[in-house]
Amino acid sequence: MRKKGRVSAFALILILALICAILLITAAAVDNQRTYNREKAVTPTPSITPRTVRITEAPGQPTLSPTPRLLQVNSVGLEVKELQERLRELGYYSGDVDGQYGGGTRTAVQAFQSQHGLDADGIAGESTLNLLYSAGAQRFVATPTPSPTPETAAMLTSGSQGEQVKKLQQRLADLGFYTGKVDGDYGKGTRQAVTVFQSQHGLDADGIAGEKTLKLLYSDQAKKVVVTPTPEAIQVLSGNLPLLVNKEHPIDANFVPAGLVDMSKYCDSSLVKIKYQGTQGVREAVDALVEMLQAAKKDGVTNWQVSAAYRSVKDQQSIFDSNVKSYMNNNGLSKEKAVSATRKTVADPGTSEHHTGLAFDMTVPGTSAFLGTKQCTWLHAHCWDYGFVIRYQKDKEDITGFLAEAWHIRYVGKEHSKVMQERNLCLEEYLELAK
Ligand SMILES: [Zn+2]
Repeated sequence: MRKKGRVSAFALILILALICAILLITAAAVDNQRTYNREKAVTPTPSITPRTVRITEAPGQPTLSPTPRLLQVNSVGLEVKELQERLRELGYYSGDVDGQYGGGTRTAVQAFQSQHGLDADGIAGESTLNLLYSAGAQRFVATPTPSPTPETAAMLTSGSQGEQVKKLQQRLADLGFYTGKVDGDYGKGTRQAVTVFQSQHGLDADGIAGEKTLKLLYSDQAKKVVVTPTPEAIQVLSGNLPLLVNKEHPIDANFVPAGLVDMSKYCDSSLVKIKYQGTQGVREAVDALVEMLQAAKKDGVTNWQVSAAYRSVKDQQSIFDSNVKSYMNNNGLSKEKAVSATRKTVADPGTSEHHTGLAFDMTVPGTSAFLGTKQCTWLHAHCWDYGFVIRYQKDKEDITGFLAEAWHIRYVGKEHSKVMQERNLCLEEYLELAK
């Protein structure tokens, strides 16, 4: 939003005072978010506020939600690294993935923006980042040099053949509209490509390459194809969706997941330490975990521990009850007050994801803080490739109802986790889209 015209100094001071008041109130509200359910029991207690590494916050800004994302020249850090990696993956960037937003990164961002019809300012703001990490992000296409209009071509249409059609197909292919053979036959594919070119250039989309179409096509005004992102990828997958367990969707008290294995016997202890003897997890998820940690080992990241996995509703109930009791006996609280105090740190029985046997709390043996470790960084970057998601993220606290937990991963299956990562969707959002 931009303010037009002049604002008197007095009004400006008033507005500033108002903004300060809002910031103070918001800061207080953020503190109150500590009243969210927190998993307790065997969950490690980080020494610092849990915050996932995928979040960007402008330095010095209060923790407001949603946090505006803006990366530009002189930005540094993990978010920049991720940006560079993504740009590299798509072919826009060939420099070092060093987390430093320099001239090369800016040029790559500009190229991405201009290819996607965005303002090519070289600043990775919210719309650029959203598109970049979405399924709609296209690979880099080198700008084709404009070629002169072939003199003899006046009109090409279905059934046309020869050199002029070949040139037409080649030009359409260079711009990304045509993916068929450059064979000089004006068939269905060529007509379709011409139609899409026309509609994206404000021409009559009749599929006939007439004078106007050809002139524009061979000029430097010809733009590359724009592929519109569609939510279809999610709909295709809606047959076998991940299980949702949260406050609104508690699990049945008698639910026991199928295929539980004893992780302390099942897993190679040199790969991962299981903190508590007899900890169980669903076999498919444990297999995925092992596969993931083997990959981590190849990357030189070892020394992993699982502090929690499957927990029955009964177990959760007794943890909950003993907390309530302790508040009543030791702090002299009424039952009602003891329950609400307990809810600040212990999930209501039935609402913990650990009931599914598909969630694991990942830690480093001997340390209480997971955030900031190299294991944490690796996990947040790669777990998606093995079917896991970082279930409770900072920017999704309002939706999940849980404070961010850097250590808690949830197995959903590769086909889902990859889409969730690409589109930055938490499970609630993902399932909403898949409906
Ligand atoms: Zn957990």
